[in-house]
Amino acid sequence: MEENKTQGRIAAIVLAGGSGKRMGGSVPKQYRKLCGRPMITYSLEAFEKSGVDQVVLVTGREEVEYCRKEIVEKWGFQKVAAVVPGGKERYHSVYQGLKALKNCDYVLIHDGARPLLSQDIIERAITGAMEYEACVIGMPVKDTIKVADEDGFAVRTPDRSRLWQIQTPQAFSYELARRAYDRIMADETLQQGITDDAMVAERAEKIKVKLLPGSYENLKVTTPEDLYLAEALLARRMAGNSSASHFISQ
Ligand code: C5P
Repeated sequence: MEENKTQGRIAAIVLAGGSGKRMGGSVPKQYRKLCGRPMITYSLEAFEKSGVDQVVLVTGREEVEYCRKEIVEKWGFQKVAAVVPGGKERYHSVYQGLKALKNCDYVLIHDGARPLLSQDIIERAITGAMEYEACVIGMPVKDTIKVADEDGFAVRTPDRSRLWQIQTPQAFSYELARRAYDRIMADETLQQGITDDAMVAERAEKIKVKLLPGSYENLKVTTPEDLYLAEALLARRMAGNSSASHFISQ
């Protein structure tokens, strides 16, 4: 891999190994078409145009060949160095991605189900990884959040001004991410309830992860209505009048 002289060698793991149960339908959501293109091609294209040197695409076991031929070859993604099968949970898939990476100093981990990834956000994640060793992109929540008890009654209302909804990329020094994931994978008691990479770093390495602002556009396509939203935002972007919703601190 060619070294990025000013920054060190930067890799990205793009995750597309989920079954997309919450979306319904027979095609996993990350391959469904958005504005005429498979969803996964948007984030792969964003990394292709960025300062990232190497990309590993993690897919379901059944979709490795499809991705090699119909996504990577057909769309001509030069930076995709490997397509590897993922695992049962998201963190299993990330681990497969980490093991497939070669010679990198920093790694960005991104949900393939977030097609609205921008160059701005990629750059912020890279600089954040270099400065803090561990950072995640997110945005302050807009709604009031309540914690429910088992019977569905509100028991607590955390201070909204301190709450962030976490997105991806989540970016780390490779060494730190690999050490944290090795530790988590070796000890089942540490795996309970893991939903993102920051949790892995926090649990295994007892470190603080920096939160950096992304964009409200960088949504994760999870349920059918997200498809409409993502399509509208992508269409606006392709028409050249994207006005990214920037971080408003209040
Ligand atoms: O399930 P969730 O929406 O959190 O998934 C986030 C991302 O992780 C998606 O892009 C999905 O394809 C990926 N994933 C994966 N392997 C899994 C589960 C999810 O690569 N076992």
